[in-house]
Amino acid sequence: MPSVSHVSPAFAQRPLFLGFDVGGTGIKLGVVDDLGRPLAQTRIATLEEQGPQSAVARARSAMNQMLAELGLTTVDLAAVGLATPGTMDIPKGIFLQPHNLPHWHYFPIRDCVAEAFGLPTTFANDANAAAYGESWVGSGQKFHSIVLLTLGTGVGGGIIIGDLSVDGENSHGSECGHIIIDSSPAARMCGCGQPGHLEAYCSATALVKRTSELLASGRASSLSKRITAQSPLTAKLIDEEADQGDALAIEAIFELGTWLGLGCVSLMHCIDPGAVILGGAMNFGGADDPTGRRFLEHVRGVVRKHAFPIPAQRTVIDFASLGGDAGFIGAAGIARLEFHRKQHPARVSNAK
Ligand SMILES: [Zn+2]
Repeated sequence: MPSVSHVSPAFAQRPLFLGFDVGGTGIKLGVVDDLGRPLAQTRIATLEEQGPQSAVARARSAMNQMLAELGLTTVDLAAVGLATPGTMDIPKGIFLQPHNLPHWHYFPIRDCVAEAFGLPTTFANDANAAAYGESWVGSGQKFHSIVLLTLGTGVGGGIIIGDLSVDGENSHGSECGHIIIDSSPAARMCGCGQPGHLEAYCSATALVKRTSELLASGRASSLSKRITAQSPLTAKLIDEEADQGDALAIEAIFELGTWLGLGCVSLMHCIDPGAVILGGAMNFGGADDPTGRRFLEHVRGVVRKHAFPIPAQRTVIDFASLGGDAGFIGAAGIARLEFHRKQHPARVSNAK
């Protein structure tokens, strides 16, 4: 189910752009209008081991079908915005060594997509694209600058300042999940192989690991009855038991929130953004859920306690609003930005 409502082609503001968001298991494609509204979207399996050319060819077929259902053709599209996991070389348009795409290393993905789709193609890190989406039409649209942290299997990060996605000199910018928050000898190991990173404390993987440690210490918890061989411990299960008032589940979530709040403070002290937006699948139900609200308030409390007084008071900490659609919407938005830059070099805006 899309998390953002669609606009019909008759009411869409042209030109139209295609967002192409590559993940380790799925590829999301969506047609987005000039105001950031999706017309349609679809998802195909990445089938990573079949290689990038196969994925691009299947994506092209999926796009043709999506356009046909809208009564459109590729002539109606102005550009493609491609977003992929890093590591990558953005100016060259190539992958370096994305760990969840092992068969795609060093492949020139941007030019492959541009050739297959016959359209100008921009290339962005997927978390930066999601941050651009939230900045353009999501929770960050009221702010000049935002940091997005996506909490899922890992912790992704994106930084947008005005129209600028902070890609860095080496395409390694905005890796907010890998800021160091614990330099003690007991620091937990991150998925990237270095100790003490935010991701090692704030990902769903980290939550499951920490909750398992608390359970193994012999603490009572309603989680013990939920875990079976068929139903292993997951972040969703921990969230569900926290909703039921389980003290251990709540403690593990709050502990994660404390680390996350400290990470937010470090990012705020570097960038001083208008907002830090929390996205990704692990949002504990978001603002519509009691655990989600308590989690957010806890993170805000840590920020208020540890940040400089003015940012502590002013910087907004909130949930993202585009859900899993942020990546393709933001990727399309980055393509749109480049398109309008070329059309009107003196007038560059993301419609804020
Ligand atoms: Zn790391």
